[in-house]
Amino acid sequence: MPRKVLMVIDMLKDFLEPDGSLYCGQAARDIVPFVVEKVKEFMSQNEPVIFIMDAHEPEDAEFALFPTHCVYGTRGAELIEELASLAEEYPFTIKVPKTRYSGFFRTGLSKILEDLQPEAVHVVGVCTNICVLYTVEELRNRDYRTIVYQKGVASFDEEAHRWALKQMQAVLGVELA
Ligand SMILES: [Zn+2]
Repeated sequence: MPRKVLMVIDMLKDFLEPDGSLYCGQAARDIVPFVVEKVKEFMSQNEPVIFIMDAHEPEDAEFALFPTHCVYGTRGAELIEELASLAEEYPFTIKVPKTRYSGFFRTGLSKILEDLQPEAVHVVGVCTNICVLYTVEELRNRDYRTIVYQKGVASFDEEAHRWALKQMQAVLGVELA
């Protein structure tokens, strides 16, 4: 039976809470209800839900470009409350900590997907033009059918958000839903 997978990217407190160290703004807050519904939908179908989670060392090189955020073991690196309890209770939750934009870089994600053999990977999360884009690129490099929900992704930069959706669809062959 072909399996679909939901990939939830960086729905973490530092990005989604107004007092988070790299808060992505109202556009990001606005996708929370959609993301929660999508997670519940996949859970009700007993399909795997993969949470890709920024988890940096305190002195990570990425902090030359962005304010310190999502340091491993800190509150800011936790899933937002709306998702944390769902993830905790669900047996098919897979958490993948990462230190760069791509969920594949120095993580076990490649192997996890090889084992799951999904017919399609469905994607939600932040930011559309950063971690979503560079993770989706690697999904497409591996020929996974990829579906990105326009109501389920957001960025602090609205123009970059729109550009990234176009780029994913026109250049990477992503299906926009
Ligand atoms: Zn980061």
